[in-house]
Amino acid sequence: MMKTWNDKCAVFGIWNDPEAAWMAYLGLYAQQHRGQEGAGIVSLHKEKHLIHRGVGLVGEVFNEKVLKKLKGLAAIGHTRYSTQGGDKKKNIQPLTARLFSGPVALAHNGNIVNFTQLKKELMDQGSVFYSSSDTECVVHLLARDTHFINWKTSLKKYLPRLIGAYSFVLLAKDSMLAIRDPMGFRPLVLGQRRWLSEKGEENFSWVVASETCAFDLIGAKFIREIEPGEIWEVDKDGDRSYFLKKEKKLHRCVFEHVYFARPDSFVFGKNVYQSRKEMGRELAKQSPVQADLVIPVPDSGVPSALGYSEVSGIRYDMGIVRNHYIGRTFIHPSQNIRDFKVKIKLSTQKSLIKGKRVVVVDDSIVRGTTSKSIVGLLNKAGAKEIHFRVSSPPITGPCFYGVDTPEKKELIAARMNVKEIKNYLQVDSLDFLSKEALIKAVQNSSSRLKKEMHHKKHLLKERGFCSACFTGCYPTAVYTDGM
Ligand code: AMP
Repeated sequence: MMKTWNDKCAVFGIWNDPEAAWMAYLGLYAQQHRGQEGAGIVSLHKEKHLIHRGVGLVGEVFNEKVLKKLKGLAAIGHTRYSTQGGDKKKNIQPLTARLFSGPVALAHNGNIVNFTQLKKELMDQGSVFYSSSDTECVVHLLARDTHFINWKTSLKKYLPRLIGAYSFVLLAKDSMLAIRDPMGFRPLVLGQRRWLSEKGEENFSWVVASETCAFDLIGAKFIREIEPGEIWEVDKDGDRSYFLKKEKKLHRCVFEHVYFARPDSFVFGKNVYQSRKEMGRELAKQSPVQADLVIPVPDSGVPSALGYSEVSGIRYDMGIVRNHYIGRTFIHPSQNIRDFKVKIKLSTQKSLIKGKRVVVVDDSIVRGTTSKSIVGLLNKAGAKEIHFRVSSPPITGPCFYGVDTPEKKELIAARMNVKEIKNYLQVDSLDFLSKEALIKAVQNSSSRLKKEMHHKKHLLKERGFCSACFTGCYPTAVYTDGM
């Protein structure tokens, strides 16, 4: 059996809302960028779970007929993307099971790094696994609690067995929970949505999501982050929180700000667009160059290219055009065909580029396929000089905590140093943002933003990001053998 990763996922949950399933659908729509392989919603109706899951995009998996069937005042949802694994259908979340405590549905963003060991231990003790997802071992762990009293006792007993990244939303028979691992790898936010009853009485629902962009779409108000190590629970009596053992240091994923999250989201207390722009400003200070034009690799390079242009004073323009209608292209094993994939996606504005010294800005270089292909396109368009700038450090190792990065041997920066990559790309200059400047960009907030986040001041002060993909310093033990 191959191992699977719960990477690039979004979770969503809503409690006490007359349109719970519809809101979950919209919440997943807003977070589609976090996973395109499959989607699912589980609603709670009269202490029973109603389930719909499918392979594909949110808009393909759900329709009006399906959503009408997902009755109830509470629902949780998930969008999934994985790079490895067997049967796609079996791995689509929320995972559902009937435990001693009643029906349980679980949606997970992150990756449990000791999954293989846990799975072996659980199988040795008689557990039967249905999927190849790491999330299933959590359900089996919780199933051990045959003397279930309440979620507080059960989760505090079993969750410390997990090593790695988890932002969970759990729907039980009469409550909903949002849980974030003590290192805080993945984001998880809490909000409220006001609604009027038929009699005109004001009510509100509780909402949880991976990113605040989901709240913006459904008109929910951001309340706060679910804190690292927090277990937040809501039922008919209201909401409460309890905590797992605190970690001394947080390891919030810096790559959420570099690439993963939507630019309009607030992640770890900071607006992602502002972070990316700041990365570009830092890059311009760190690595200036004489040039005529700054162009982004759309869409991921746009905010940092704007920041680079602002500080350098070099004109910004859209020299590269992105085709937004390609959907998911089949990832072909041969490099040759992968190069075509980039060409389908990106093309150049020749009239802008011809005879110009261009600074091209992207957020990251992974395998080097995109950058190599872009350099080819810019040369064809007649660029006089090409200066490649990357608004994050070289990625030298895979992520074990939920971001979809390939194996180490496929990462260009794991095999080559910056000079060698420059030669490989055949550019006039190449530079990557330093780790220090990246962390600075992610932490610094403008005074306006600080004011906006006034009620969450302590989050702005928090230090601690995971940058293991750039440094190789993994904050937990990592286990690389699959089952
Ligand atoms: P590559 O062609 O493999 O070097 O990939 C670099 C491009 O992929 C950049 O334009 C990034 O914006 C984008 N990228 C970075 N990380 C990821 C990821 N985890 N999944 C998909 N695309 C990514």
